[in-house]
Amino acid sequence: SAPLSIVRGAGQAAGRGILMRTGEAFQGFRLVKKIVLDKTGTLTEGRPTVREIEAVGGQERELLAVAAAAETRSEHPLAQALVKAAFERSITPPNVGSFQAFPGQGVVARIGDAEIVVGSPRFMSERNIALGALRGRTEILEAAGRTVIAVAKEGLALGIVAVGDTLRPDAVSAVATLRKAGLSIALVTGDNERAAQRIGREIGVNEVHAAMLPQDKAAIVRTLQADARVAMVGDGINDAPALMQADIGIAMGGGTDIALESADIIILSNRLTALAEAREISGRSYRKMV
Ligand code: ADP
Ligand code: MG
Repeated sequence: SAPLSIVRGAGQAAGRGILMRTGEAFQGFRLVKKIVLDKTGTLTEGRPTVREIEAVGGQERELLAVAAAAETRSEHPLAQALVKAAFERSITPPNVGSFQAFPGQGVVARIGDAEIVVGSPRFMSERNIALGALRGRTEILEAAGRTVIAVAKEGLALGIVAVGDTLRPDAVSAVATLRKAGLSIALVTGDNERAAQRIGREIGVNEVHAAMLPQDKAAIVRTLQADARVAMVGDGINDAPALMQADIGIAMGGGTDIALESADIIILSNRLTALAEAREISGRSYRKMV
């Protein structure tokens, strides 16, 4: 049976909306020196909304209809933002045939015979779709912290949609508290470099890694593990490999099932300040054990 100090620690954690699921959560978290934080859904609320639409030829409704159609079967928060924006404008998306999701990149779908691509500007260039005159606006929007999603039909860009998410209200103070405790904080995201840098500065992290695919996130954790114990905090399918690679995996309570299953600790309250609390509980439980 579990030592009494762990039983007590688990109770204290539960009272704060923190679920310590494994022995590692108690034994290991106090030894962690670096914390890797996912951006979307972890540092931000994870409920992005459409902020700006830039359509070639001013065809905004056509752009949203096509984008929403392609995203109907995606569970990604960005997909939901596009579908919602179409719905709010009473746009009925056309039916799609085939559909394929590319994690951390975008989706490809068919409307009739036409191939539709919706995803990051990088995904577009990888598929040889030129953004042309939309490039400049894309860079400005990204520097402002937006996620830009491009939409293309039959290899031609129809336009871009700028999506924005809100920082969790306690993101800045939670990171400041952890840094004061001597921890180094890395921001790791699948989002673009400009938006990631902007948010990294706002929050005050030690390092930023952008445009990371799921396996890249796990690789960053592995690299950081060369000289320290590392905790990873995430919420998405794309975070699961990194959560498993980390010494301590921490999932936000609102996260996807696979993230929750991969985690040693679940923050049910979605409060980022719970990270420092969980670390303290880990330290206390251990001291009482020895
Ligand atoms: P994060 O690490 O911020 O949680 P993801 O790894 O899920 O983000 O996605 C990274 C990027 O891939 C997004 O910023 C977006 O540009 C693109 N992307 C991923 N899924 C989709 C989708 N369903 N529709 C459009 N773009 C997507
Ligand atoms: Mg995320």
